[in-house]
Amino acid sequence: MRFLVFILFFIVLSCQHDKPSFNAPPKGNAPSSSLLKSDSIIAEQDTGLIIYLTFDDGPYKTTPKIVSVLEKENIKSSFFIIGAQRDRSPLFDSIYRRNLQNPMFRFYNHSYSHAITKGRIKKYYKNPENVLADIEKNRAYIPSTSKMIRLPGKTIWRTGIRKRKDKMTAGLLDLMDEKKIDDRIMGWDFSWKKEMSKDVSRVDTLITKIIKKSKKKKPYSNHVVILTHDYLYNSKTALENLTYLIDQLKNKYHCSFRWAEEYPN
Ligand SMILES: [Zn+2]
Repeated sequence: MRFLVFILFFIVLSCQHDKPSFNAPPKGNAPSSSLLKSDSIIAEQDTGLIIYLTFDDGPYKTTPKIVSVLEKENIKSSFFIIGAQRDRSPLFDSIYRRNLQNPMFRFYNHSYSHAITKGRIKKYYKNPENVLADIEKNRAYIPSTSKMIRLPGKTIWRTGIRKRKDKMTAGLLDLMDEKKIDDRIMGWDFSWKKEMSKDVSRVDTLITKIIKKSKKKKPYSNHVVILTHDYLYNSKTALENLTYLIDQLKNKYHCSFRWAEEYPN
């Protein structure tokens, strides 16, 4: 009997000895270095939040101030350009030409006229041929390689992974299909409201919404497009708040910034 108790005690002791500590890798089952590598790639794809920061309706007199923030932050930024703005003044045109030299910036088509203000939006989209002509006219005002469009006043999508047209823009998108125009159209997920240029707590609300969206278990929910406008940064506070948004996304949430053209197709 004593011998049996001794054997039992010995078995229990040796089992405890084999039990791995909390963080120890399972014995004899350590993943190879290639497995570890692919695991880390999957983890990055699953959790990495990717931000597309897009500025519409420029060039404008406030654009150089925005540029000074973006240059300090050293992030990829996208500008959807209105040709009529370049024609509006030699100053706007020179601001745009200067920005073209910046390797962190890309420029895209936001139509030549942007003729939607003062309730003209319905009238504008009523004639798809004219809208398309407005978009085509703007090609001369942006780099020839640019193949991204944002429609004036409408969050419409035409990419491989996202499609959205509404009643108002259906004619235009059908016409583009018919004419085999393969430019992609980018809408947006969140927009920078006027109040955010004044009140930093509104920027926090925006960040919360972005993080919430990125955690949804939908394909590509970690890709977030932010729309903002050059003309909204006409004060020191507005520029500080823009800096705050970028810093928080970059340093607290470890987001990476990409150009519109890098949006998954
Ligand atoms: Zn616009």
